[in-house]
Amino acid sequence: MIAKDMLALGKKSSVIREIFEYARVRRGEIGAENVFDFSLGNPSIPAPAVVNETMQRLIAERDPVALHGYTSAPGDQGVRQTIAEHITARFGVEANPNLIYMTCGAAASLTVSLRALTTVGDEVVLLAPFFPEYRVFVSNSGATPVVVPCCQDTLDIDFAALAAAITPRTRAVIVNSPNNPSGAVLSEESICKLASLLREKSAEYGEPIVIIADEPYRELVYDGVEVPYIPAYYDNTIVCYSYSKSLSLPGERIGYIFVSPTMEQAGDVFAAVCGAGRSLGFVCAPSLLQLTAAACDGTPPDLTAYDRNRKLLYESLTEMGYDAIKPQGAFYLFVKALEPNAAAFCERAKKQELLLVPSDDFGVSGYVRIAYCVSYEQIERSLPAFKALYEDYNKE
Ligand code: PLP
Repeated sequence: MIAKDMLALGKKSSVIREIFEYARVRRGEIGAENVFDFSLGNPSIPAPAVVNETMQRLIAERDPVALHGYTSAPGDQGVRQTIAEHITARFGVEANPNLIYMTCGAAASLTVSLRALTTVGDEVVLLAPFFPEYRVFVSNSGATPVVVPCCQDTLDIDFAALAAAITPRTRAVIVNSPNNPSGAVLSEESICKLASLLREKSAEYGEPIVIIADEPYRELVYDGVEVPYIPAYYDNTIVCYSYSKSLSLPGERIGYIFVSPTMEQAGDVFAAVCGAGRSLGFVCAPSLLQLTAAACDGTPPDLTAYDRNRKLLYESLTEMGYDAIKPQGAFYLFVKALEPNAAAFCERAKKQELLLVPSDDFGVSGYVRIAYCVSYEQIERSLPAFKALYEDYNKE
């Protein structure tokens, strides 16, 4: 009666969710100010004021029946037109509204794109560290995830390892820059190298290998870092975009898929995206949110608070002796655990009420992710706990 694979998936919650739930219980026991929960990537800055203003204006001005009614399955035509114009204006890449599909965030964008491109027997490359749900999304379309670790210290793509991992069954590589969990941003040079490797391998095997660019953190970058727009470098690209982090709207579930017009058989790929959306039940993304997203698309987030947190955490932890990778984007710090077993390290951190996420589910071992989308005060209060944890290891 019950699908065994879905039962198993439903019963096993993600490590991040487990820690988040533990934090909730612990807050009740010892008080919120004594629990240092760094588990969840939930934006801590409010949506820009223009978001609420736009929603209020739409509710006041639009015909309510049309406003709350179904849109076309791939989304409202005017919304798709606006987003296409913005893509062209911002990135200098030709964009066509008929190749844009509105979704309920990056998770839906990825699931739909993977289902459109892959089937049983295909392989999808995940560059580790990666967002843990990729494994679930890839497996859902019947394909097999193939993990390729990035270079350990720089987190750049390990091109030799990637070349060795590509086979005639490789259909796609998921690229997530700025990266969750490390905050790393791939340089233009790396994107160019990736593009030329994939062009070479596509020609060798006679089948295009697609880059799926998962971009919910595109606007979250520091120190003037540029995030190359992959369709400008590689024809066979699908962009999975989300407003969850850029506009602080994760609960509203809105994003889109953009199929590059330069992609081989772009029209058919988009038709397959529509088919996948239909088969998964991801049609007509929330209409009020579609209109709001289009009106606010490109509004820059105020990153002052994240940047302040990033600096305080990175500088304080490295000064204490921790080995951390300086994040260029997103709101995560990737720190080397003080023992090889990251899960054991996180258990020991819990004794100091520090709730960190072990890196194993991100596809690498020996690190922890610290989500610094929290209040500055929480970081300040947590520093003695990080120090005590460090000393706990170093007295041995
Ligand atoms: N991809 C990455 C890398 C993420 O970090 C997340 C969420 O944290 C998602 C996709 C899913 O985002 P959304 O809320 O838009 O579904």
